[in-house]
Amino acid sequence: MFRVTLDGVIAVYLVIILCSVFFSWLAAAVFQAGRAKQRKKHFVICGICDHVYEDLSEEEISECPRCSAKNEREKILEI
Ligand SMILES: [Zn+2]
Repeated sequence: MFRVTLDGVIAVYLVIILCSVFFSWLAAAVFQAGRAKQRKKHFVICGICDHVYEDLSEEEISECPRCSAKNEREKILEI
């Protein structure tokens, strides 16, 4: 017969709970990083008026909605 002690049951439950919390946190962090990367990809800063706008098209050059200047898409490090 397999004997189960109370300490063993508590330890197994703690391991299960901690593992589920850890993997949930890891999945949320990966998902959030992916969304932030996707969001940064669509933001463009106008070189003339410094207006930050979102351009969902995949074209390399976009037009500023404020001053109508043509802007080249480049990486934004921090908004
Ligand atoms: Zn502009």
